Amino acid sequence: MGGGLFKFSSLMIPFIDFSRQNKLLKKKLLRAVAGVIDRQAYILGPDVDTFEREFASYSGVKYAVGVASGFDAILLSLQALGIGKGDEVITVPNTFISTVLPILVVGARPVFVDVKSTTFLMNEALMEQYITPRTKAIIPVHLFGLPVDMDPLMRIAKKYKLAIIEDACQAHGAIYLPAGKAGKGRKAGSIGDVGCFSFYPSKNLGAFGDAGMVTTNRKDIAEKIRILRNIGQKEKNIHSVLGHNSRLDTMQAAMLRVKLPYLDQWVQKRRQLAYRYNSLLFGLPIVLPVEPESLKSSFHLYVIRTSRRDALKRFLENNEVMCGVHYPTPIHLQPCMKELGYKKGDFPVSEDGAREVLSLPLYPEMKAEEVDVVARIIRKFFT
Ligand SMILES: *Cc1c(COP(=O)(O)O)cnc(C)c1O
Repeated sequence: MGGGLFKFSSLMIPFIDFSRQNKLLKKKLLRAVAGVIDRQAYILGPDVDTFEREFASYSGVKYAVGVASGFDAILLSLQALGIGKGDEVITVPNTFISTVLPILVVGARPVFVDVKSTTFLMNEALMEQYITPRTKAIIPVHLFGLPVDMDPLMRIAKKYKLAIIEDACQAHGAIYLPAGKAGKGRKAGSIGDVGCFSFYPSKNLGAFGDAGMVTTNRKDIAEKIRILRNIGQKEKNIHSVLGHNSRLDTMQAAMLRVKLPYLDQWVQKRRQLAYRYNSLLFGLPIVLPVEPESLKSSFHLYVIRTSRRDALKRFLENNEVMCGVHYPTPIHLQPCMKELGYKKGDFPVSEDGAREVLSLPLYPEMKAEEVDVVARIIRKFFT
């Protein structure tokens, strides 16, 4: 038995393991839960207010409004921007379904633009051919945690008077620093008209259930979302608009407050492990994630590309390393999108990517030695 591979094979490496982080924070989390129970404010209340202020300050925006999920963050943002029947919203086909479903839910039409083969993010050079008089907004997705190059997009949005809704559901802590500009850079989700975040448990900042947030510098949008999330109620028993029950759960807010101070160090750990993967996997016939100089990824996912994806995935799993595929089917080819009339071949970069992407285990508490094991197994597969 050589290469140390078998020595490690009894050590199962999960895709993500919450237990290490939970152990670290359990006392503080339970204290936060007890605080909510004792204060007896179970819907909205001070825990939600405070978390909103803290998240706004973290993101460098004026307002943050807590909602029930990332899906609802996008849905309510579209509604607050007045987008509905007859309108078109441009986004990408290689994303999670919840970027696109809310567009259909408000009665608008999603229009897809393909991505760049290098970063796998929205290709703004292709954008203008898709803009029509009905286009109202663009939803760039900071996929895997890598921010979209926002300045060119903001210029297009300004020229055609379009709103920008950033899908930052994978990009808590990611930073956008356009080349040649001084300063600390801006957080993903703080640049467009609104930023949408999910606190789904596996996200970089994860709740113990569903939760989400909208960030914005626009007071009008923040106010509208506050009303929309709370059954359209502006003042008690006056329901001014058709709203939702989409409040950020108070218990989740209290627990997220415990976690937020750790976010930057967790992102830092993810970045270190990602760079470790990069150096260990260098030279193999796989495409490693790129990080252009002006973009600091939050590395929500560490995604490699190879034409032998399925075989490599099986090999890793046979060696007790769990991986993911984000995502196997581009959105324009999903059954629920059939009425839009898209077909195979419409977005070749996204479609090729869907066959080739493989997400390796990555979470802040993962040990460097575990990264080494994964890399060694991948190396073995290719030799
Ligand atoms: C997770 C995610 C969402 C949806 O978030 P939920 O909280 O699960 O509703 C939307 N877009 C992207 C890119 C995501 O990764």
